[in-house]
Amino acid sequence: MTRTLIALTATSLMALTTATAQTTALTGATVLDGTGGPAIEGGTVIVEDGRLACVGAAEACPVPEGATVTDVSGHFITPGLVDAHVHFGQTGWLDGRPDSGVLGDVYAYDETIASAKAHPERWHEAYLCTGITAVYDVGGQAWTVTGEHATDTDRPDRVHVRAAGPLTTHVENNAGFMTGAVADEALFLPMQENADIAGNIAFLQEIGAHAMKVWYLAPSDEDRERLDALMMAAGAAADDAGLPLIVHATSLREAKIALQAGAEMLVHSVDDAPVDAEFLRLLTENDVVYAPTLQAGRNWARALASVAVDSPAPIDDPNNCVDADIRARINDTGSLNANLPPRLDFGWAINRLENAGAEVLQMQQNLVAVHEAGGLIATATDAGNPMTLHGPSIYEEMELMEAAGIDPAEIITLSTRNGAIAMGLEGETGTIEAGKIADLIVLAEDPRESTSAFRSLTHVMRLGVLTPQSALQVHDGE
Ligand SMILES: [Zn+2]
Repeated sequence: MTRTLIALTATSLMALTTATAQTTALTGATVLDGTGGPAIEGGTVIVEDGRLACVGAAEACPVPEGATVTDVSGHFITPGLVDAHVHFGQTGWLDGRPDSGVLGDVYAYDETIASAKAHPERWHEAYLCTGITAVYDVGGQAWTVTGEHATDTDRPDRVHVRAAGPLTTHVENNAGFMTGAVADEALFLPMQENADIAGNIAFLQEIGAHAMKVWYLAPSDEDRERLDALMMAAGAAADDAGLPLIVHATSLREAKIALQAGAEMLVHSVDDAPVDAEFLRLLTENDVVYAPTLQAGRNWARALASVAVDSPAPIDDPNNCVDADIRARINDTGSLNANLPPRLDFGWAINRLENAGAEVLQMQQNLVAVHEAGGLIATATDAGNPMTLHGPSIYEEMELMEAAGIDPAEIITLSTRNGAIAMGLEGETGTIEAGKIADLIVLAEDPRESTSAFRSLTHVMRLGVLTPQSALQVHDGE
């Protein structure tokens, strides 16, 4: 008797949940669908089984009976944000970068990595809390590709993840990074001869990487010919293997070699010179994604300066999304300052900040040149680098793009659809169109007026599940 009753109750509860969970409607908002097309005023968005069933004017999308309706009149709906350049293996602080030269014995790199590997959900939480619903991890140890955080993402508490895995590079002696004797722990894979490239591709395919990333720093004059040839060989081999080639090449000459080698994405700006006609032609002819990462270098300078002067850098976290442990580390500049090598003094920090400022200006000029040439730009932060925080750093990135002269209305598309294109997910997410996965955000302010409107996030919908932003915050405000 009791058993039957319980069974019945369970069944009817399940029926109830199914009916309400399956169809959701958002009504009354201005819908900016991410395609760059006209806004839908007073629009209705209907979601069924995690997918967008109807997007349009109220008359065009009648709300089905039994649907859960949320009236968001006066608000603005855009696709979920996409950060096209992050690293799950980095924390947003210096503890993830042994090459910074300031860690001393304070933070052991293997412990940082072990913690990042054990708790990748921290970054998923920070992203959703910020309004980000997809990220491209463009470099990390093999676990950043094979980890369940990256492979099991069809769920509302995780963002979409694509991951490139270990970086192929000619650079040797990456002190402090190559901690593992086994390939599984390596951050870098060698690029000294053609056989290396074949081996790297086999490894990337074995772990299921979504791309081959080459870290191509400007070679010395005597090494140029040999390394350019290797870069070209890497491109050809990646193409044969069906792996998209993505390249870190921030100097104009090397960026052009990367484009000639068939790169599908440049993961940073060119920052050493104005881009030229040849660069723009190579970039636009092949629809290569250009990911500006305008703030990461300056944030490095901020982080190092905060240690040099022992005064914590301000944390730009308007929606309370930054992991508490990381906040504590950023605010504890004293322990790193106590171990600081003598040459890294106040003057050094100021100099670094000044150089970083000049670099941002060069990158902004190049961004405008790429934009005017019709290049495919995807908003990207390099989150995980010191002071480039997983999640909220995307707000500042968009604001720097706007400050460069890009229209805020266009930045919506660069920060949604174009990121999905970079990740190869444009058929599934990145715009608000019927048939796509229901990944969207609700804002109180109009992002066509100013990109700072993304800070006024009120709701996040991931895979059809609508959550108020207040329920996604990871710590109490101060
Ligand atoms: Zn990066």
